[in-house]
Amino acid sequence: MVRNVNRSAWAQRLLGVDHHMRIRVAMTAVSALLSAVCGGLVMLLAYAGFARVDLSLIWISTLVLFNLAVLVCIRTGWTLSLDDPALTQLQIRYAILSNAAGYALLGEARGITPVILSLVLMFGIFNLSARQMLANLLLSLLCFGIATVVVFWMDAPGHNAVLELAYGVMIVLVLGGSTFVGLRIQHVRQRLKRQKHALAAALARIHHLAAHDDLTGLVNRRRMTELLAVERERCDRSGRPLVLALLDLDLFKRVNDQHGHAVGDAVLCAFAQSAVKNLRSTDVLARWGGEEFLLLLPETDAAGAALLLERLRAEVATLQVPCPAGHVAVTVSAGLAESLPGQSVEQVVECTDEALYQAKAQGRNRVVRHPQRTPAARSTLQPQAQN
Ligand code: GH3
Ligand code: MG
Ligand code: MG
Repeated sequence: MVRNVNRSAWAQRLLGVDHHMRIRVAMTAVSALLSAVCGGLVMLLAYAGFARVDLSLIWISTLVLFNLAVLVCIRTGWTLSLDDPALTQLQIRYAILSNAAGYALLGEARGITPVILSLVLMFGIFNLSARQMLANLLLSLLCFGIATVVVFWMDAPGHNAVLELAYGVMIVLVLGGSTFVGLRIQHVRQRLKRQKHALAAALARIHHLAAHDDLTGLVNRRRMTELLAVERERCDRSGRPLVLALLDLDLFKRVNDQHGHAVGDAVLCAFAQSAVKNLRSTDVLARWGGEEFLLLLPETDAAGAALLLERLRAEVATLQVPCPAGHVAVTVSAGLAESLPGQSVEQVVECTDEALYQAKAQGRNRVVRHPQRTPAARSTLQPQAQN
């Protein structure tokens, strides 16, 4: 256990804390390690007489130094402000030039460099675009073409037309093959990315549909029930009462009967829009049933809620919803209630229903506040009309 903690502390110190930084540093370190191993191999070949030791040493030293410099730049965070903080393209471009130079300089050992390059190209698969990969392929072919010309021109040791042709074909095959695989992987990754976005969008849509009413776009009863439970807990913690209002369009059946269901739907939408305009962003209006709406007013006392509802009622009374016969006017009644200590959400909703019943009984187009009282006195409801 202690050893694991120590190990992860060391890993953090070496690779960094940030996940992306760790990946960048690890990838660059692996690439540097591979270059060092390949360098060691070249040195072996040089001491075995297949390459000049001095040129091999210069070649390997520049390669190792470059890799170390890149590693330091990445690990110190110096590259973070760049478009390519992993310096992938720079590392690959350098590897192309360096390996092509190695091909020209390393004598009989030169056959090893195209293989090293194809290994390096693999590291770009996840970071480079298809365009960058193709550009790298062209640059590689160009550089190795020039290197082959240099081999002939300098009459490099061990060069032979047939061998150079075979090397040339192998270079084209190895670089072309690794680029082809890279492009395929890119293609699959792009497709997965698109599918992931489409899936996320579909999921967001499903969440929206599950929580909203199709016709009015308001929160539906299921979602409102969840929100009420959350608000109930918040009220319990803060000691504030839960303030709710039940709104019901007056004589709505008549609208349907006289103008048709489609006009009724348009009236419901117009009401919802008008109501939402009068609410704060924290207030929630839900379609509770057919033409019944439940309003949740967090951080509002009953007096403030009564004022808001009165404003809303007056605004709805001015609505003129267009229909084939001209315009339809509509009014709304509302029952307002605030919770008493220990009251459940269902009990508060019941109180709003009782107050709404009173509003209808008193002639509609009004707001009635459920009187504050103890649960023992619940049978004697004395509503107060607000207008
Ligand atoms: P009151 O003032 O007492 O509330 O009278 P009312 O006519 O509004 O009362 P009632 O609850 O009897 O009628 C409600 C009507 O609302 C009945 C139903 O056809 C209609 N309704 C419910 N949902 C929809 C809907 O989605 N679209 C339309 N167009 N009408 C609906
Ligand atoms: Mg009604
Ligand atoms: Mg109704």
